[in-house]
Amino acid sequence: MVDVEKYPSGVYTTKLSEAIGFLLKTSIWPATFGLACCAIEMMASGTPDYDIARFGSERFAATPRQADCMIVAGRVSQKFAPVVRQVYDQMTEPKWVISMGVCASSGGMFNNYAIVQGVDHIVPVDVYLPGCPPRPEMLLNALITLHHQMMNTPYTPGKRKEWTRAAEEAALNATPLVDQKGLLA
Ligand code: SF4
Repeated sequence: MVDVEKYPSGVYTTKLSEAIGFLLKTSIWPATFGLACCAIEMMASGTPDYDIARFGSERFAATPRQADCMIVAGRVSQKFAPVVRQVYDQMTEPKWVISMGVCASSGGMFNNYAIVQGVDHIVPVDVYLPGCPPRPEMLLNALITLHHQMMNTPYTPGKRKEWTRAAEEAALNATPLVDQKGLLA
């Protein structure tokens, strides 16, 4: 237990993991791309009404190499899936993914062969955001959820890679929706 009384006022102590978490959470740079109608709500989050700048994330990077957060805003077609993965691979480490809206998270109402039935089949997802479309406030709430994750998960570069690899492995081994009998019809 730290005896704070013996420090002069104005001195603040913290753990290294919390300091790293604080730096990470206050400088999230999302990648600039949107896939469908959800992207309009994502763009609205940058307007003065919602002001994503309050959370340090107003700087949407035009190149994935300067981005560390992918907001998958909209449905992902099978044809576009390799592009989404390529953008993710080009993003800088450590990186995070927010799946915005039901289409990105599960295919939503597009239960067909053309749409990826959940973007976690392509990239590891950290926060799922429900809604069709989710409001900008909900995106800000997802961002705050990501902040909590960063503050409460001690950051070690190797560990984070291990976790994302395990999440990807689990997604690859999951039973495809078409094989999940009994859910439909
Ligand atoms: S969740 Fe709704 S708003 Fe978002 S991409 Fe799908 S249909 Fe469009």
